Amino acid sequence: MELLKQRILSDGEGIGTEILKVDSFLNHQVDVKLTRAIGEDFARLFGAERPSKVLTVEASGIPVAMATAQALGDLPMVFAKKAAPNTMTDGFYAAPVRSFTKGTLATVRVSRSYLSPEDRVLIIDDFLATGEAAIGLLDLLRQAGAKCVGFGAVIEKEWQGGSARLEELGYKVCSLAVITSIQDGNINIK
Ligand code: 5GP
Repeated sequence: MELLKQRILSDGEGIGTEILKVDSFLNHQVDVKLTRAIGEDFARLFGAERPSKVLTVEASGIPVAMATAQALGDLPMVFAKKAAPNTMTDGFYAAPVRSFTKGTLATVRVSRSYLSPEDRVLIIDDFLATGEAAIGLLDLLRQAGAKCVGFGAVIEKEWQGGSARLEELGYKVCSLAVITSIQDGNINIK
């Protein structure tokens, strides 16, 4: 996605060799027009898989998952929560996830009411790094008996292996921008 690549190159900031900061359009302030185009691209890439629902994890995945669900014909969008609110009265599926950026262990949860064996779920996230978040979300789907029809990442950091990990498990993976390295503040995109 050319527009996204240009934006990463103009506004992205490499932090060391492992982290990309894109707070100005994706992770803190959100460029709504770009997000809409991202959703349309994911809908084009995954429409044939006939997803019935889009799943992401709070908080940064929400705008892109929402735009994707909208572009797929106003599908329901579910975001896994990282805290257990006492409104989750119907019970929930839970899985541990190690945070790439914080280095902490969190639990992702989705209420049992919003995932079922009939669901064909498209997982969307802002970043794909080691694949930990995706594996956690897949665990929730396994518990619910739901099917994963693919995984879409806005930005993939190729060398961190998440994409290869998911593809080895047999999942379709599409990333809109693939970063090959971050060196001395330079961001290299495929
Ligand atoms: P993974 O679980 O694949 O290792 O990492 C994916 C998650 O970590 C994403 O949900 C994203 O929020 C966060 N993440 C991973 N790498 C980066 C990064 O370089 N920049 C930002 N802003 N978030 C990242």
